[in-house]
Amino acid sequence: MSPLPSSKIVNLEIFRLPPRWLFVRVETEGGLVGWGESSLEGHTEAVEGASAALRETFVGWDGDRIQDIWQHAYRSRFYRGGPVLMSALSGLDIALWDIKGKKLGVPVWQLLGGKVRDRVKVYGWIGGDTPQAVLEGAAKRKEQGFTAVKMNGTGAVDWIDSPNVLTDTVARVRDVRSLGLDVGVDFHGRLHKGMAKQLAKLLQPLNPMFIEEPLLPTQPEEIADLAQMVATPIALGERLYTRHDFRPYLERRAIDIAQPDVSHCGGISELHRIASLTEIYDVALAPHCPLGPIALAACMQVDVAAPNFVIQEMSWQIHYNQGADLFTYVVDSAVFAVKDGYVEALSGPGLGIEINEALVRDTAAQYVQDKAWRNEVWTGVDGSLREW
Ligand SMILES: [Mg+2]
Repeated sequence: MSPLPSSKIVNLEIFRLPPRWLFVRVETEGGLVGWGESSLEGHTEAVEGASAALRETFVGWDGDRIQDIWQHAYRSRFYRGGPVLMSALSGLDIALWDIKGKKLGVPVWQLLGGKVRDRVKVYGWIGGDTPQAVLEGAAKRKEQGFTAVKMNGTGAVDWIDSPNVLTDTVARVRDVRSLGLDVGVDFHGRLHKGMAKQLAKLLQPLNPMFIEEPLLPTQPEEIADLAQMVATPIALGERLYTRHDFRPYLERRAIDIAQPDVSHCGGISELHRIASLTEIYDVALAPHCPLGPIALAACMQVDVAAPNFVIQEMSWQIHYNQGADLFTYVVDSAVFAVKDGYVEALSGPGLGIEINEALVRDTAAQYVQDKAWRNEVWTGVDGSLREW
């Protein structure tokens, strides 16, 4: 038996790509290549800087020591956590798992204990502000094979606004439900308590699959109060980083569904640990992923191995995907085929996807000159800032 190739890290490269993604490529002395994703929408330049610091630290390290590298990246430089540092670490961590799987010739889920399910339930996104656009979007997702979708609850809402701004939301959710689709409603942290509790109550009779970020993730106590008020499952977690950020939500019984984002929470390592942590609070796992194919593949590795996993977000034709879509940089998109609401467990080694490296390099070389993606900034009629 020939010796396994060396995992000593010799290079870490980052690629800024449309629509709003940051891919990470790690190469080892033995010629192994792993891909990660550090996309942090709206803060691309900051993550690029943090990734450069990781490169300076970890080139020369043994990439097999995923846990050791994670601990050093997280703990050795005094300041820790938060979206920027954790997104940079997430990309590196995902790439190292990809390398280890490829080196051993197994999918990452084998290294996490093996499968507890054979396929992963997924949901798509529907955008659109008019009832007609929403209905068309929902019909399209159904055609694509989805049985569940997510939609935004509202546009910009004032701290206390006219209750009329909530009426349209109820009508749109009812329309989508009438097509036989399950619906998650993302409040997006746009509403404050006085409005959020009204909307949560109005939606309850329509049986949404969940309501997401009913308040900003700075409000665990107030979200816990909401959880007491409505029967609808409460989902949250895309803006939480590491297990530590989830802790108050779990201890206060504030959420029913944890939505860590593998590109922000600390990669496959931390997503897997969060899954296990939330399980003991009887909280389900539904990883957030409006991002690219590497993030999706990384989520799916954990999804098939986590007992409390319920549903996976998938960004296929999401409205943010301008200039490139979920499958653009993937050699074989058939691995993500949606059938009857499910995607089969990825079976290839590592992350189970092949990245079109030539396209990534060409595209990044042109795109890096452009301004990085930014979300819109919303203001009310009075000129004051609204949550986006
Ligand atoms: Mg969300």
